[in-house]
Amino acid sequence: MSDPPAIHYRLSPSDPGAHLFEVTCTVSDPDPRGQVFWLPAWTPGSYMIRDFARHVVRLRATSGSGAVVVEKTDKQTWRCAPCDGPLTVLYEVYAWDLSVRAAHLDTTHGYFNGTSVFLCTAGKETRPCILDIQAPKGGAYGSWRLATAMQPLEASPHGFGTYRAADYDELVDHPVEMGNFTLLSFEACGVSHEVAISGRHRADTHRLSVDLKRICEHHIRFFGEPAPVDRYLFLIMTVGEGYGGLEHRASCSLLCSRDSLPRAGEKDISDDYRGFLALCSHEYFHTWNIKRIRPAVFTPYDLRHEVHTRLLWAFEGITSYYDELALVRSGLISPASYLELLGQTATRVWRSRGRFKQSVAESSFDAWTKFYKQDENAPNAIVSYYTKGALVSLALDLTIRRATSGMRSLDDVMRALWERYGKTSKGVPEQAVEQIAEEATGLSLGAFFDQALRGTEDLPLPELLAEVGVAFGLRAAESQEDKGGKPASVAADKPAAVLGVRSVPEAGGCKLTHVFEDSAAQAAGLSAGDVLVAVNGIRVSGDKIGKMVGSHGVGETVSLHVFRRDELMEFQVELKAAPLDTCVLELLDAVDESTLACREAWLRGVVKSARALAGPGA
Ligand SMILES: [Zn+2]
Repeated sequence: MSDPPAIHYRLSPSDPGAHLFEVTCTVSDPDPRGQVFWLPAWTPGSYMIRDFARHVVRLRATSGSGAVVVEKTDKQTWRCAPCDGPLTVLYEVYAWDLSVRAAHLDTTHGYFNGTSVFLCTAGKETRPCILDIQAPKGGAYGSWRLATAMQPLEASPHGFGTYRAADYDELVDHPVEMGNFTLLSFEACGVSHEVAISGRHRADTHRLSVDLKRICEHHIRFFGEPAPVDRYLFLIMTVGEGYGGLEHRASCSLLCSRDSLPRAGEKDISDDYRGFLALCSHEYFHTWNIKRIRPAVFTPYDLRHEVHTRLLWAFEGITSYYDELALVRSGLISPASYLELLGQTATRVWRSRGRFKQSVAESSFDAWTKFYKQDENAPNAIVSYYTKGALVSLALDLTIRRATSGMRSLDDVMRALWERYGKTSKGVPEQAVEQIAEEATGLSLGAFFDQALRGTEDLPLPELLAEVGVAFGLRAAESQEDKGGKPASVAADKPAAVLGVRSVPEAGGCKLTHVFEDSAAQAAGLSAGDVLVAVNGIRVSGDKIGKMVGSHGVGETVSLHVFRRDELMEFQVELKAAPLDTCVLELLDAVDESTLACREAWLRGVVKSARALAGPGA
């Protein structure tokens, strides 16, 4: 039996000024009942229905005998009339979404995810795909190059030409960047890595390569050599303000502020650069944890509908835990700097009253309609499977370390998941993470998981962190910009009076974006969207609201004038003390030797003795 014929795609940045890609898809043997094509509604790693088909501008079809009638059968599906092959569908895609999730094209560069641009040929999803990527026409684009982790078929390195993918799933898992990007390369554990940086920047590219190499080597060694890829690509888009990342099987797309990249001559790691490295670490860890160790319900992905899983806490939360832990384990940041990051994660969880209402299992399941569609009430109603998922991972790690006297850890659980599900490409059933955790550690963890995953009470982090010589403290926020993680800059003897809101400056005052549950503002009837214009008759100026309110005492009543829509309203607000919702983690100096050894083992990632005792493969 010969191999089934490939599906041929051709993509051309036909009109960069109008943000239009022209795409064709050719099937040599269309379905005799009429070939159906569809475009994904979502893209793996970003759990929201985005309906990429809304950007298909016009679509028509031809076969050997001329034009073929096309009928649209739902928001993202087209059926061609029965015809002899080859059948070619031709369409344009409007690409003006500068994010890691969709497609973007202008006269400076082009970027796309396959889920935004490539129709899937129904019934032929497993066919190999051949993609011809054409250069934009015109001398202005003569210097454009191309970066993708897709296998070239007939293309010079970084050149336009033909590429191939084993099937549709792979075709849409290799994003493509084209333009005049900065290209860096390094080797990590024998694997060739490249970094393509688009957008204006002045980054110290040598330092970036050196630091990324350490992160990549850490993750490869964590799961065990050889790496699951033979090459890897970081696609970085730098902008003024922006943040985002999306994982793929042999690459990742990152959007970051150009100021988060290090400049030549800088030696220290700025907070922004530390955040950027954590983002790179996060997406790279996904190469194992979700791209290969992946939920059974995503095997294969159904890209036409929402797919629900209660496991996002494990794929995003565990990844969020290890992305920062890898920075301290690889020596890029100090233990104190790591604890600051961990304290900021805990602060984000402690500031959300939604943590008492939604479990991380529920948060995972409802990602599509809650986490990805957050409104002004989100802090009161939901919990993040990223941040609480990271704290669950920390609590699980420390619980295992305590119960096994340091002989086992979450590291062993991850390696067991990799052996069982990653290397074999078997999907992870919904109960399997909990089962593997018990098998890999020999512990009964049912009660832990019931509380941490399906419960809503706070995790016992103060006790668990004490076991590794770390103090967990809570204090009041000093300002809206206070992210937590470090002690107060000014020692305050008692918390200040607050309204219990978040706000942004607005002409003539400030606009409330969030009103927190059980706050003074909520009790008085203030609402998100209200524009606060005066406190006790004095005009509010932009970002001064915290100071204006803080100058009053706890329990004091102030009069607030606000515009709700176009109506001026007055509220009497009895101020409350700022809640203790800002977490501070600190290394304890006076700890005994065994606590110190536990902390070292945790922060250095060294295996205390278990593997040495049990031998390789334990
Ligand atoms: Zn992630």
